[in-house]
Amino acid sequence: MKDKIYKILPDFLQGLLISLFNKLAYKERYGGKYQYYLNKFKANRTLSREELVAVQKKRFAEFLSFSKEKSDFYKNYELVELEDISQLPILKKEQLRQSIKDVVTISKKDAIVSKTGGTTGKSLEVLYTADNMQERFAMLDDFRGRSGYQLGKKTAWFSGKDLLTSKDLTKKRFWKTDILNKVRYYSTFHIKESYLKYYVEDLIKYQPEYMVGFPSTILEIAKYGINHGYTFPAKTVKAIFPTAESITEEMRLHIEGFFKTKMLNQYASSEGAPFIFECQEGSLHLELQSGIFEVLDDNNQPTTEGKLVITSFTTEGTPLIRYDIGDSIILDDPARSCQCGNNNPLVKEILGRIDDYIYSPETGKINLGNVSNTLKDTKGILRFQAIQDELNTISILLVVDHSFTPKVEEVFMSNWRARVGQQMTINMQIVQDIPVEKSGKYRIVKNNIKHLL
Ligand SMILES: [Zn+2]
Repeated sequence: MKDKIYKILPDFLQGLLISLFNKLAYKERYGGKYQYYLNKFKANRTLSREELVAVQKKRFAEFLSFSKEKSDFYKNYELVELEDISQLPILKKEQLRQSIKDVVTISKKDAIVSKTGGTTGKSLEVLYTADNMQERFAMLDDFRGRSGYQLGKKTAWFSGKDLLTSKDLTKKRFWKTDILNKVRYYSTFHIKESYLKYYVEDLIKYQPEYMVGFPSTILEIAKYGINHGYTFPAKTVKAIFPTAESITEEMRLHIEGFFKTKMLNQYASSEGAPFIFECQEGSLHLELQSGIFEVLDDNNQPTTEGKLVITSFTTEGTPLIRYDIGDSIILDDPARSCQCGNNNPLVKEILGRIDDYIYSPETGKINLGNVSNTLKDTKGILRFQAIQDELNTISILLVVDHSFTPKVEEVFMSNWRARVGQQMTINMQIVQDIPVEKSGKYRIVKNNIKHLL
């Protein structure tokens, strides 16, 4: 009903309605103890490693005892010290889904509900307390604040909100503006070659100070801008904060190049994982104040490159203790410190979703970074998507322009062969458009054979 009314309003009133809606959402996020937390994290930016670990130890003890007391699922958990966390069981995603009623500590009506995991089709509802939500937003805003960002700064937002009407499409207007908060929401559902011109030109006109959202969408706009000779005005965007998707080198190269600014990565998840933030020096820091990060091998032994198992202090509504979140990371040398002054430990790389890969029976898993590197030495490929429905076959959809030649196709194919070997069948198909997912995200890899591996 709300949606129906929204869709028939004129553009100006739609903008106003978004402002009003945001006002309500903002009250939830930026009310209560938000300011208290924001001040705290700002003051804590220069804590020593020892101080950070002390905060982490104390919060772990409180969080574990809270979960044991309030959650049926954890009631038999032993109250161990942080050093002995490996004595507690690991919680798998499927187990969380099945036991969710026992895990949660609050009722839905008192909670902020977050739906997760659209990729496998089975979604999961996670409940947050308002206090935890305020703390999470304070942590995020402190991270963005290191680049000068604060609420009310002119921002271009690229998220999974479907805000456009058919009239907008006729008018080639792919955005809505919240005038009160100075946020322009660009649609991530209309990233088509024939529409991208309007995105680029509007961004040049709008001149946002910050950009936030799906990097795959921002990448398409940047690539279009570069390929069509647009110049984005220098010193306009102060920072770009990607969300929700893994970043590849290729993305960084094009996005930072076109918008002439830095992209500062973050790791979080809708289940409420603790944060990993990129600093001005380009290093990724684990935020120890937000939780515990364990990197484990297939036998659940500590290692430097492997699956990420998290314990998150801001999940009191749906406590996550030793939760196998389905991502993998590579830790940096623990002795290395960063010039930026933040003493949180460093991460070498966030490898992203463990299930974002192509599997070759001959060569094994090819991760997202390696998949996107198949573009090396090619031109004219605007976008591609690799889909694996069978063990021995991959389908690659390509959106190309006139500079894509049979010679380029050969290079692209040999890049693929270098990764998957000689035996797999590779079907390439040139298409007009590759649709985004229901969430508004664009996926380079769609692996539909996980159940076979
Ligand atoms: Zn740093």
